[in-house]
Amino acid sequence: MSPDWQFDIPSALLVGALLTLLIGLVLMAVARSVPDAVRPAVRWWVVATLVQPAGFVLITLRGGAPAWATVVLANALIAFAFVAYALALHRFFGSRARPAPLLAPWLVVVAGSVWWGLLVPDLTARLVVVSLAMAAILAYGARTLYRHAHRRDRLHHVVGLSFAAAGGILAYRAGVLLVDPARVTGVFTLNHVQILTYAVGGILPVVATVGFLLMGNERSARELERAARVDYLTDCYNRRAIEELGARMMAAARRHGMSLAVLVIDLDHFKRINDELGHAAGDEALVRSVERIRDCLRADDLLGRLGGEEFVVLMPNTDSASAVAAAERIRENFNALPLVLGDVLRPVTLSIGVAVLAPADRLFSQLLQRGDRAMYAAKNAGRNLVIADPMSGWVDTRP
Ligand code: GH3
Ligand code: MG
Ligand code: MG
Repeated sequence: MSPDWQFDIPSALLVGALLTLLIGLVLMAVARSVPDAVRPAVRWWVVATLVQPAGFVLITLRGGAPAWATVVLANALIAFAFVAYALALHRFFGSRARPAPLLAPWLVVVAGSVWWGLLVPDLTARLVVVSLAMAAILAYGARTLYRHAHRRDRLHHVVGLSFAAAGGILAYRAGVLLVDPARVTGVFTLNHVQILTYAVGGILPVVATVGFLLMGNERSARELERAARVDYLTDCYNRRAIEELGARMMAAARRHGMSLAVLVIDLDHFKRINDELGHAAGDEALVRSVERIRDCLRADDLLGRLGGEEFVVLMPNTDSASAVAAAERIRENFNALPLVLGDVLRPVTLSIGVAVLAPADRLFSQLLQRGDRAMYAAKNAGRNLVIADPMSGWVDTRP
């Protein structure tokens, strides 16, 4: 290190402020193009990254400008920025922020700054109280994150650890001051506590912002992936997903020498619901039907919509007799209870075709086709019926 190397806290603060401001401006510019779901969170994050540098700049003016600005306003702005980060995280997870854990420490920061900064000047008391209150806000932000984030996500640790580290350093500063008040004789005193506080305070917003953006990115990637696999109306798998899952289940069944059954379910005379009650009621009937079918299934069974009013159930490790029994349970459930569509009770019956994986099936589509044929056989035989494909053993359960 060269002998004339110098480090001073105001410069570090200004660099930190500039970095945070720049990242805030970039974020503001891109806020409009982020997905709707994360935009409110990004807005709060922008507020935080624009307000925090203002507080940092005010601190560098200490000694020159009046204390109400460089102490009270500066601390109020920085604490407000921390509150805004915590609110951004709440928005991100769609949870409601309780006001007390954020408002109370913010008020403590302001009151402590007024009292020990202006009225009864006491640097140690002020730094201890302000540090602890700010640490509480950061801890609340970290807690919000760890309460809501998926355990298998790794990215949230970037933000979570940034907040925890910043809060930890502020708490550490309070601890050092309590034990040894002489250590800090002014806010620009060059010792490890002050350097840690301000250097890390300048760097962490940048790291946390990168982590926050990556979290948003991961969220939208997951939503897109989900949207590509899930039927938007009924929230069960769409045709594409079910064909993929079916092929995978078929391979697994073959590998383990287990059976695999499919049910193809079609609502009877569904067109009449649309004609008599309107398309919206038809949509609702589809949603209610999926709920009903799902209630009749085991946890391992997968339900998908093949299109229109036709559904498929994949039943791993299920033989013909059990699959027919399950289909019969579903048919009977619909037969016994009408669907509730708003304030209308509407009886709906089902025709169900059952097929079980046979040695001749090479593709999932062949198994599905046999299920479909059995379903059409049930239609032709008068509807409200379960019929098993001949290759699965023929069963007629005409009521
Ligand atoms: P069947 O007993 O022979 O199955 O008679 P069906 O009326 O149920 O069968 P059909 O195939 O003749 O008519 C299916 C109807 O389902 C036609 C279409 O308008 C309606 N449909 C398909 N998809 C939707 C949807 O997403 N929402 C609503 N409301 N209706 C749909
Ligand atoms: Mg139908
Ligand atoms: Mg149909």
